[in-house]
Amino acid sequence: MKKTHIKIIMLITFILSVIISSVNVFGFVGNFDSSAFKSFPTFKWTIPTKTPRVTRTPSATKTPSTTTSKITTPPTMTPTATPKTTVSPTVIPSPSNTPGGNDLQREASKNPPNALAVSSVPQFIVFGFDDNYSSDGVKAIVELFEKYNNPAGIGKLSTYDGMKIRSTFYNTGKFIDSNDELKTQWANAYNKGFEVGDHTYAHDDGKNFTYKQWSDELTKSEQILKNLLGNSFKSYGFRSPYLSFNQDGLQAVKDYGFEYDCSIPEGDQSDVDGKGCYWPYTLDNGSPCNKYVNKNWNEPLVTGVKGLWEIPAYTFTVPSDNDCSQYGVDSGLRSRMEQASSDFNFDSGKVTGMDWNVFEKYKANPKEYTAILKYSLDLRLNGNRAPMTIGSHSNFYSDSEYSAALEEFITYALKNKDVRIVTAKQLLDWLKNPVVLK
Ligand SMILES: [Zn+2]
Repeated sequence: MKKTHIKIIMLITFILSVIISSVNVFGFVGNFDSSAFKSFPTFKWTIPTKTPRVTRTPSATKTPSTTTSKITTPPTMTPTATPKTTVSPTVIPSPSNTPGGNDLQREASKNPPNALAVSSVPQFIVFGFDDNYSSDGVKAIVELFEKYNNPAGIGKLSTYDGMKIRSTFYNTGKFIDSNDELKTQWANAYNKGFEVGDHTYAHDDGKNFTYKQWSDELTKSEQILKNLLGNSFKSYGFRSPYLSFNQDGLQAVKDYGFEYDCSIPEGDQSDVDGKGCYWPYTLDNGSPCNKYVNKNWNEPLVTGVKGLWEIPAYTFTVPSDNDCSQYGVDSGLRSRMEQASSDFNFDSGKVTGMDWNVFEKYKANPKEYTAILKYSLDLRLNGNRAPMTIGSHSNFYSDSEYSAALEEFITYALKNKDVRIVTAKQLLDWLKNPVVLK
C-alpha cells in the first residue's frame, strides 16, 4: 500500500472513532465507558439521565437530617440545616412536590405581599395570649372580644370585613391537668372561634433542648388539647416559652405539622423602626432580626426551616417625650422605663412586643401600656402596614384596670376603617392569598 493510502485509512479511522465516541456521550449507546476517551471527560455532566436526581434531593436530604437530630441531638446540631439551605433553590419551582405539600416560600420583605399597595391592604392586629393559667383571665378576654366587630368595609370575607374580632390563645398543657374551670374556659374560647395554639406542655426554657425534647413537648401538649377539644383538633401555630428557641426546636415544630411559629422577635435591628418592619416571612433562609441578634448579641441562630411561616413578635415603640401628651401620659415615659431596667433602649424606644415586658420588666402602668400600643399602631398606619402583633398574657386582664386599658386600645384601633383584629391563623390565610380591601 502506498503511504497516501495508509494516511487516508488512518484519517477515516480517526473520524469514525470521534463520531462513535460523541454518540455515546449523548446517551444513544448504552454502557459505553466514556472515561476511555480522556480527551472528552467534561462531556460526562451533560448526560441527561442525571436530572431526575434533583427532584429526589429534598426527601433524600431531609430524612437523614431529621433522623440525625432525633438520635444524637447535641446543641451544636445547627450545621444539619446547611444542606437544606443549599438545596432549597432547586425545590422552589415545584413546591407541590415537597413533603407536607402547599409549602410556599416568602422572603422577608418590607413591602406588602404580591406588590400590593400599602394603602390597599388591611392593617392587621394580632393578639396572642400565652400560658392562660387563669380561668378568669381567659374569660375576661373572651367577653371583651365578643363585644366588638371589625370595620364593615365592603363586606368581603377575605379581609374579615365586619367579622367579630378574635385572638389566639397559646395554651400551656400542664395548666389544665386538674383545673376543670380552666378546661371549661379554654373550650369555650375555642367554640366561639378563637384560635388555640401551642405553648408547650411544661413551659420550660428550651434554648438548649434537643430535637427529641422539643418533639416530646409538642406531642404531650397537642394530646392534651386533643383530649379537650376533640380528636380532629390540631394547632396551627406555636410560641416558645420565654421566646426561647433554637434551630432544632423550630424544625421539630415544622415536622410536627404546625404552619407557623411566632417566637422570633422582629424589629430590633438598628435600621428598622415601627414604620418599616419586615412583613411575615417563611423561615427557609432564617429571619432578618434573628441574624442581627445572633451577630450582635450572640443569640442562637436559626439557620433555616423550610416552609415554616414566622409571624414575628414585633417590637413596640414607646412614645418619645414630645409625643407623650398626645397619647394621654406624662412626658418622660422612656426615662421611667429606663430607670426600671437599664437595658431599655432610650433612643429608639423599642421594646420586645410582649405585655409582660412592659408591665413587669419596665414597670409601666396599664394607661402607659395603652399609650405604647396606640403609638405603635399609628407608626404602622403611617408606615408600611406590617401586621402589629401583641404578645399578651391573659392572666393580667382579669384585673379591670388592665382589661379597661386593653379595651381602650381596641376601640381606638377599630375607629380606623382599615384595621382588622384577627387571629394569627386568619392573618396567615390572608398572607397566603393576599387581597386588597376594596
Ligand atoms: Zn409563656
